[in-house]
This record gives sequence, structure tokens and C-alpha cells, in this order.
Amino acid sequence: MKYINFEDASDAVSDEIYMKEALKEAQKALDQDEVPIGAVIVCNGKIIGRGHNLTERLNDVTAHAEMQAFTAAANYIGGKYLQDCTLYVTIEPCVMCAGAAYWTQITRIVFGANDRKRGFSIHGNDLLHPKTTVISGVLENECAALVTSFFRNKRNK
Ligand SMILES: [Zn+2]
Repeated sequence: MKYINFEDASDAVSDEIYMKEALKEAQKALDQDEVPIGAVIVCNGKIIGRGHNLTERLNDVTAHAEMQAFTAAANYIGGKYLQDCTLYVTIEPCVMCAGAAYWTQITRIVFGANDRKRGFSIHGNDLLHPKTTVISGVLENECAALVTSFFRNKRNK
């Protein structure tokens, strides 16, 4: 796995465009009082899967944004592998979602803010497929702010 900084990424402009779409998904989660994390999967410039966190509504701890998006994308293309696709997700994937990403063989993962408690990278970089490139820090502040304010509001209730 290659781990490169946002500044080094040649696709910086389009990465921001698609991250804004992932942020729209995160907002949908927020509107349903779910932890506001959103994801989209892009293939050849087209969004082929979207998802947002639905763990409360579905009573399902596996209903993370990325899992919803993987399923939607696989349904769209009629196959389980997401080669030549990019996952955009507002927060660093957890171990479960990194594991699912491995099985999809996805080409790129672009995430916004790090998750220093549950992020996969805490456990090392071997969770992802060797062909997967990771880019972090795209619209990091916007992505982090949604989650931070969500939990601040929860504590104040
Ligand atoms: Zn996850």
C-alpha cells in the first residue's frame, strides 16, 4: 500500500468534488441522527455507489457508510470487484470496512479526516489490498467538523 499526502495527489480537484458528494451523504446521516459519515464510489468519473451510516436505523453495527456504498456499487456493476474504482469516505475507514475494501480490490481509497481511535491505520497498513492506494486529508476540516459537532451536541443533551 502506498500512503501519500493530499498535496502529492494529481487528482486533487476531482477528489474534492467527489468528497463533497460523500459529505452530502454524511449530511443525510446527520439528518437521521446517525453518526454523520458518508461515502461514494466512483468509477470512470461516475458515481456508482453511495452510502451513509445507518447503524441506528437498521440496528446493524455493520451498516457503515462504506459497507452501504460497496454493496450499492457491486449491485450497479453486477460484480463484486471494484477494480478501477475509488472509495471516497469522510472519515478514515474502520478495520471492518478496510477488510471489506480488501475483498473488493478497490484501486483507491480517499478519506477526509483520520479516526485516531477506530481507524484502520492504527493497526498497520496490511489490512488493505496491496494494489490499493490511500489518500488522506481531502476536505479534512469539513469532514471532521460534522462528526465533532454531532458528538458535542449528544453530550449537551
Ligand atoms: Zn467501518
